[in-house]
Amino acid sequence: MSQCECTFSDLESPGHRGEIENVPPTWSCSRDAVDGESQCKYHLSNKKREKLGIPEHEIQHEIQSAIKSGNASLDFVGSNLPALDLSGLVITSSTDEALDLRCAKTNGKLDLSDAKFNIPLKAHLFESGRGGIDIRDAEFRDKVSFYGSRVKGSFKGKGSHFKGEADFSNAKLTNSLNLHDSTKFEDLVKFKNLKIVSDGSFRIRGAIFQGRCLAREIDVPEVNCIGTKFRREVKFSSISVDGDFMAEKARFDQDVDFGDSDPQKYNHDGPSEICGITDFSDVIAERHVNFNRVLFRDELKITDSDFYGKVQLVLPSLENHVTLSGSTFDRSLIIKPLYCKNSDHNLIEVECVNTHINEGILAQPGNEHSKNVHYKFQDSTIGNINFYDTDLIGDQNPTLLQCYEFNHSIKYVTFWKTKFGNFDFAPYHANLHGNWNIHKLDINKQLEPKTIADWGKQKFNLLREIPASLLDIREAGWLAEYDSTEYSELEQTYRLAKIGAVESGNNRASSEFFIKELDARTAQYSSFQSRAEDRVKLIQYWSQYWVYRSWRTIRYSESALRVFSMAFVTVWVFAIIYLITGNILGSTSPYDAGSIGYLIFSFESFVTLVHNPGTTVDSSWIRGLTAIQGFIGAFFIGLFVFSLTRTVHR
Ligand SMILES: [Zn+2]
Repeated sequence: MSQCECTFSDLESPGHRGEIENVPPTWSCSRDAVDGESQCKYHLSNKKREKLGIPEHEIQHEIQSAIKSGNASLDFVGSNLPALDLSGLVITSSTDEALDLRCAKTNGKLDLSDAKFNIPLKAHLFESGRGGIDIRDAEFRDKVSFYGSRVKGSFKGKGSHFKGEADFSNAKLTNSLNLHDSTKFEDLVKFKNLKIVSDGSFRIRGAIFQGRCLAREIDVPEVNCIGTKFRREVKFSSISVDGDFMAEKARFDQDVDFGDSDPQKYNHDGPSEICGITDFSDVIAERHVNFNRVLFRDELKITDSDFYGKVQLVLPSLENHVTLSGSTFDRSLIIKPLYCKNSDHNLIEVECVNTHINEGILAQPGNEHSKNVHYKFQDSTIGNINFYDTDLIGDQNPTLLQCYEFNHSIKYVTFWKTKFGNFDFAPYHANLHGNWNIHKLDINKQLEPKTIADWGKQKFNLLREIPASLLDIREAGWLAEYDSTEYSELEQTYRLAKIGAVESGNNRASSEFFIKELDARTAQYSSFQSRAEDRVKLIQYWSQYWVYRSWRTIRYSESALRVFSMAFVTVWVFAIIYLITGNILGSTSPYDAGSIGYLIFSFESFVTLVHNPGTTVDSSWIRGLTAIQGFIGAFFIGLFVFSLTRTVHR
């Protein structure tokens, strides 16, 4: 009997060229060759075995008994095996340190379900036949490696338990990888460069990773890690997913990387790309999560989740909307897209309903051909957030964060019933100038005039606007497009903005928001008129409306200048009334000084509560009018002092 001639050089199959470094070059088969052949029965080809009359079940049986005996060789490197069923066996050996299936292949399924491995499993470059690999409910006490394996069919591993390291790097599957539902990894797991070529799934749903999970550069049809618990770091960087990435209810206890941890540096591996929906609903992440430079071809949903570390989306590409509704960002949120495109929408929406963001940066892409991002807040709470417009500096590299300059801008930001805590409106005064709208996207928002020609225009506008605003024409317009049910929400929107501005000590903003708040309240009374059930209510609403409407003319006492002007106008109006009524009633002209006497009289009446009887005029009608003017005058003086001191106290 001679020895089998199979050596290291016979292992390299066309599919594994250059990859067999996992087997030492000194390896050679230690079994005896079959009589008249140069190889043992494990290394003979199927045809030869058939010819020699060695049945498949004999090989199967031999391997099973070798395992059961516990002291036969478990070196099956490069073996040509039939379908292999080792299910339910306890795999242990006194002679070998591992069940060695490196470079081996099976004709059918490799069944290791319910097996208990007390020794490592080496299946580098293993090739399974149709039926795939089944390790369901198997327990591995030591290392397991399927590095570079080729699987025809699925990798079934539901409920399996890995106590040592597990390596699935460079594996290629024609169907799904299923390591789901209570599959437990106690040590490092590597999926690097794993590839699924059909429309299967990378399914680690409900698994528990107690060690690190490295899934860099995987290329799979979809990822399902719903409810998966990651206790250590997770790396999904430079991945390519043709369909959805489902991570609902996942738990991340340590850092998660989908992209590059440092967007200041150039990435040589290329960005991650997710073609379907990326769903991070109901997720809890205790530490940092980054989606830097990821290309999202479809929606990104980060809803109802809690993030206790930083969340970064630096330089991702967005081709559909982003939803952050219901989520809490306890540390900071940074969104700075690289490029946005979508043929159906003019803007890429980042929807934030019931979203809490403590601090962060929400910026626009800097490319002029990119669509802008509409940050849309509703019922949310925002803290110290900076909204930026960005520009690429010169013709520098757009994929590096430091090549952009940032300018404050809320041109593409809207707020509806949103609370501001620690938010500074001051950098956005230029954006808000003119209408102070924060509830509606107005991309034509006027900026401060800059040229001399603009100044001329501005002066002309002032001449037109002052009388218009005194008559309350201009401001009423901004509410025209809303219906009565939205008025109270508008009121709330601006009340919350006012409170935020007051807290940050911004007088200008708080005053403008207060005016809009009361505008919305006034509008509510006007709409109540049509809804009044009876006459009494109608009169009540009607008078409330007109009280507010009149108050509006002095900008709800926000402008001391406006109060002063209105007082001045009142004096003139009464002077004219005295002139007319004096002529009609034939009363004597006060001070007998022609028309100017009426003006002096009106001015005196304005600052005097009650004239001495009979001092200047005798008509009781006119005396009545002076009493009314005196009352209005006292009221105005009070308002004037109030509006002056209000800005001081705010
Ligand atoms: Zn051999």
